This record gives sequence, C-alpha cells and structure tokens, in this order.
Amino acid sequence: MSVDDTILDADVGIVGAGPGGMAAANVLAQAGLSVVVLDEGMRAGGQIYRQLPEGLVNHGKIAEPPSHDGGHALLERFAAAKVTLVSHATVWDAAPGKLWFEHGERSRLLRCRHIVLAPGGYDRCVPFPGWTLPGVVTAGALQVMVRGFGVVPGRRALVAGSGPLLLPTVTALLGAGVEVVAALEASSRWRALRAAPAVLGNALKRREAMWYARQLWKAGVKLRWGWTVFACEGDGRVQRAIIGKVDADGRPRRGTELKLDVDVVGAGFGLVPSVELALRLGCTSRFDAARGGHCVVVDEQQRTSVPGVFAAGEICGIGGAEVAAAEGQLVAEAVIALAKGSTVSAEAQRRAQKERKAADTMLRAFAPLPGLAELARPDTIVCRCEDVTRLGAQQAAQLHGDSLRAIKVGCRAGMGPCQARICGPSLQAMATGDGRRAMDLPVVQVPVKPVRTETMLDAPT
Ligand SMILES: Cc1cc2nc3c(=O)[nH]c(=O)nc-3n(C[C@H](O)[C@H](O)[C@H](O)COP(=O)(O)OP(=O)(O)OC[C@H]3O[C@@H](n4cnc5c(N)ncnc54)[C@H](O)[C@@H]3O)c2cc1C
Repeated sequence: MSVDDTILDADVGIVGAGPGGMAAANVLAQAGLSVVVLDEGMRAGGQIYRQLPEGLVNHGKIAEPPSHDGGHALLERFAAAKVTLVSHATVWDAAPGKLWFEHGERSRLLRCRHIVLAPGGYDRCVPFPGWTLPGVVTAGALQVMVRGFGVVPGRRALVAGSGPLLLPTVTALLGAGVEVVAALEASSRWRALRAAPAVLGNALKRREAMWYARQLWKAGVKLRWGWTVFACEGDGRVQRAIIGKVDADGRPRRGTELKLDVDVVGAGFGLVPSVELALRLGCTSRFDAARGGHCVVVDEQQRTSVPGVFAAGEICGIGGAEVAAAEGQLVAEAVIALAKGSTVSAEAQRRAQKERKAADTMLRAFAPLPGLAELARPDTIVCRCEDVTRLGAQQAAQLHGDSLRAIKVGCRAGMGPCQARICGPSLQAMATGDGRRAMDLPVVQVPVKPVRTETMLDAPT
C-alpha cells in the first residue's frame, strides 16, 4: 500500500493525531496491527502538543508547563512507531469500516476493520457585542496562531472566558511577547474551588497549577475571578474591550464596566466535544453540560454503541490530554482484545477511570454559566456564517419552534460552513433567552468538515 493510493486499507483507522489518537496508535502498532492515522493538521500532536510547521523554529520563548514532558515522550514514540500518518487529511464522512477523507485536493477512502475516533473538541463561543470584529478570536485559535504558526497576534491582549484553557492562552501570548493587559475568569473564586480536590489529589496537576501561578506572577498578570468581557469595539478591528463583573450565574452586573485599550482579544468559554463523525456512524451520545455538551457514550473499554467503532479523548467529554492519552491506550487494548482474543489490562482501565474522574471534578467547577447568554444584545450576530442576529434567532424560534432544527430552518443559523460548530452550543439559549437551555442533538450533514464539492462527487466506494 502506498499512502498516495486513492483507497487505503488498514486493520485500524484512527481519526485524530492528538494525545488520544497517538497513544492508541503506538500500542496498536506495537501489537503488530496495521494502523493509518488521519489528521487534518500539518503534523501530529493534536491541539495541545501542536508542532510548528516543518522549517519553522520555536525560539524557546514559549514556556511549557510540566505536563508537556509527557507530550514530548508521546510524540517521540509516535514518530518511531510503525504507523502511517496522513496529515492534511480531512475526514468528511464515515460508515462502519470506512472513512472518507480529502487529501491533496483528492477524494480518498480508508477501509479498516476497526475505527478509533479521537477528533478532540473545539472552542465554545459565547456571543457578545463585537465578538465578530477582526482581532477577537477564541482562546484556542490564539494558541493555534502562536504555538502552531509562530504568529504574534497583537501587542496588547485581553484573555477572557472560563476554564483551564485560559492559563495556557495567557502563557502562550506572553511567550510571543504580547502584553496581557487582563485575564478574566467568569467563574467566581469560590466556584473554582470545587476543582481543588482534582488538583490537590494529583501531583502533576499540583505542579501544573503552581507553574501557571508563577508564570502569571512573573509577568504581573492578575487573574480576575467573576469578570468577563461584555463587548468589543473598534473601527474595522478591535481597539477596545468593555469588561465587567458577573454574578454567580455569569449574568453581567451592569454598572461595573471598565474600558481597556487592546488590539487582540482571546475569548474561550470551554470546549465542546467533536461528535459529528460519531453521529454519522450512528453512535449513541448523551448530553453532559460539565463535559462540554453532547458526548459519545462508551463502555468501560471505550467501545461505542456501534460494533467496531471506538472512541477516546474529548469526543467522550472534555477532559484534557492526560484523559485522552489514558483512553487512547485503553482503546488500543480493547481493539487488540477484539482482533487477537486477548484481554484488556485492569491497569489501563484503572488509569483511564482515574484520569476521567479527576477531570470531571475539575470541569464541574467551570461548567458553562447560563447567565453569560445575557451578554448578547438583540442586534448581536449569533451565527457568523449566515449573519443571523440574536433577534433573528428569537423570531425564528417564536415562529417555528425552539428546537435546533426549527431555528435553523427558520433563519439559516447553523447552516453555514461551520455547520453549527460555532453557534450551535449557544443558539437555543440565544433564541429562547434561557441560558440553561441545552443544545438539541445536532442533525449532522455531510460533509462534516468543509471539503470541495468534487471531493464528495468523486468519493470512492
Ligand atoms: C484549539 C485548542 C487549543 C488547546 N490548547 C490547549 C493547551 O494549550 N493546553 C491544554 O492543556 N489543553 C489545550 N486544549 C485542550 C487539549 O487539546 C485537549 O484536552 C487534548 O488535546 C485532547 O486530546 P484529543 O486526542 O482528544 O484531541 P486533540 O488533541 O484535539 O486531537 C484531535 C485531532 O483530531 C484532528 N481532527 C479532528 N477532526 C478531524 C477530521 N474530521 N478529520 C481529520 N482530522 C480531524 C485534529 O486536527 C486534531 O489534531 C486545547 C484545545 C483546543 C480545541
């Protein structure tokens, strides 16, 4: 088999070369199974261990937290493993035993006995006035710019949102020489204390927390609890951010506003599991607000409800890199057990459960705050692909019903290239004015990621 063939064959096809996919691939290859990993990125590493493109050098200014040592080891093992990695490969559809992907502007197919889904998650967006201005991006996107492309996104930054991802965003910006004028966590200090058992009970997380505290202290950046960004303003791009205090539910406390001059804003309100391919495959999912939204249901061996389809990492609920790596290892053992009649080790199961439990404790402290839905005004764009305002979404809900499908049909929100990945998680909250309103299970259409029309027309079978 050549990687340039239109149709590839493997024992196992893995979607995603992040910690989940890499950990699975390493163990599977060691057991002698043929493994093809498809990833739309340029290089292996996923979101957290993102590597600069070949030829670009990290000048060592972006400090790395202690947990990244494990990531480097994982990447080294992956590079040495007998695994076929196809980068720039966007998987746009799936069926049991088949993964269709676009690569090099060609439509291609991977046929495999087992599928491992490890596509990670994406940033949760909370619309507020001015969030579509150039210079206002998600916290994750800022990291991609800085750590993935070596881009310096601005000179004076505001980082706002909620959850553990804010801290690496601040340190990445500092490493790139950007002044971080404020870092705002919407959760209150008291709510965040619920994460303490997860941090205190885990040596790596303790070291990590202290490392971040030291980085922020050295740079003179103070994390403000119970604050968020209310609005961004500017002529053609962001020039000012209006920040203010929020109550325990995240509701803006009007009258507390402050203005900051900034030229870049990173807004990150947690992550959402990327379940689209799993839904295409018919896997059962369930809604779990603290884990980020709809998550793929797996059993104690990471098997989904569809035979031959396994899942690891953020797709089963947001949890972080250690969870993803532990579940990746467990997935591999489960696939090997199925292929070779072996058994899954109790140690792999115990480790995955322990990591997941710690992550769940941590994430409960940063579960989405319903009051943040009040940041958007009637004229605030909520669906940026189709330019739908909050008022437009509200009118659609009044006229057609407040299911995700009815709102989409009524105003086209969620029908653009992102297929509701950006607006979906908050669309029903925006349309109904009820911030606790959970997103319905999305109806997934192909392509699950944007690809050329020819790719779909030429799809091999
Ligand atoms: C933008 C972003 C930045 C982050 N930065 C940090 C950080 O600095 N520190 C931290 O602790 N955590 C960070 N996280 C969270 C962290 O990335 C995850 O906890 C961890 O990487 C999860 O591992 P995973 O293997 O489940 O998925 P990921 O690491 O997300 O890997 C998934 C991989 O799947 C690929 N993929 C997804 N869909 C497709 C498709 N259809 N076709 C082909 N390939 C696909 C992606 O390109 C990606 O490489 C970040 C998350 C995001 C979304």
